[in-house]
Amino acid sequence: MYEGREIIKDYSIQEVVELIKNMNQPSYRADQLLEWVYGKKVLYLEEMSNLPVSLREELKEKILINTLEVKEKRVSPRDGTEKYLLRALDGELLECAVMKQEYGNTVCVSSQVGCGLACVFCASAKGGLVRNLSPGEMLDQVILAEKHLDGSGKIKNIVVMGMGEPLLNLSGLVRFLKTANHPRGLGLGFRNMSVSTAGIPPKMEEFAREEMPVTLAVSLHAPDNETRSQIMPVNKKHPVEEVLEACRNYIEKVGRRATFEYMLVDGFNDSKQKARELAGLLKGMLCHVNLIPANPTGEKNIKRPDKKRIKNFMEVLENHNISVSIRKERGEDIEGACGQLRRRSEVGS
Ligand code: SAH
Repeated sequence: MYEGREIIKDYSIQEVVELIKNMNQPSYRADQLLEWVYGKKVLYLEEMSNLPVSLREELKEKILINTLEVKEKRVSPRDGTEKYLLRALDGELLECAVMKQEYGNTVCVSSQVGCGLACVFCASAKGGLVRNLSPGEMLDQVILAEKHLDGSGKIKNIVVMGMGEPLLNLSGLVRFLKTANHPRGLGLGFRNMSVSTAGIPPKMEEFAREEMPVTLAVSLHAPDNETRSQIMPVNKKHPVEEVLEACRNYIEKVGRRATFEYMLVDGFNDSKQKARELAGLLKGMLCHVNLIPANPTGEKNIKRPDKKRIKNFMEVLENHNISVSIRKERGEDIEGACGQLRRRSEVGS
């Protein structure tokens, strides 16, 4: 609620329909409003030229259209990845990134300002959790990214892999994904969406019950509890076995293969032995492993292995018939790569 007004993009599509109905307007006005908001993606009521001025005035008292302001945009000269520093209505800062790919542009959305999980390798966790982002604030990351995209391309895919732990903002996340998918919302396929979690089994179960065919990506980073707990404190509460059990349940319920993200840290979790353990753990599971060579975030022990070690690790998995790929490094030169998005108190800091 801002000055008595609500964020229209926090409403479900059905709630927008009801809002218009309760204003004693014909139902096609809801269609028009939704088309402006999600189809044409305009940010001001003044631009909604087929709505009568009186209705626009009335709506102005009740709702806000846009929640985020672009403070800064950086484009990687290397690979075209774009990073946006955004400011919310309460002044909080957040980031999102856009990766350009042949099969369509992907936006990496943040789900929280900061993060409470304190993974040692991740810059987003540095200041702790500030607050959840609302569904409208997540939708606006996609909308603003598309509006500002160089070359006027469209956003095709959403990955919720920016700042924050999406499953600890579950109701906001689900609402966001549903509007992103809705034909009168952004109209993107669930199959073009991924949600990345550090692995919180009860929340994974709850998410599975939504039965949206969204890819669940789980940040595993180690096959055993001892290693994983050293870098991900959440593992002490939710150990590997429980996370995998929740994954199996998700795959079965939703019918999508899961992704395991495995960040390779030089001399820590990148030995052939660890690769064999990982292969054993994932045997028979409908899954894919995405290897992420660690990106620098200032943590001195987190270094990326050389190419040879990465290749060796990958080969062990392949020899065990595990589907595996190496995540392309994107946007590292603009601090827009995995683990490098963070809340900044000032532009340029
Ligand atoms: N909280 C969620 C989503 C955010 S991060 C999660 O934990 O999955 C998206 C991915 O980037 C995660 O797999 C995360 O572990 C990884 N990541 C974080 N810091 C990184 C770094 N310095 N280098 C490479 N990947 C990193």
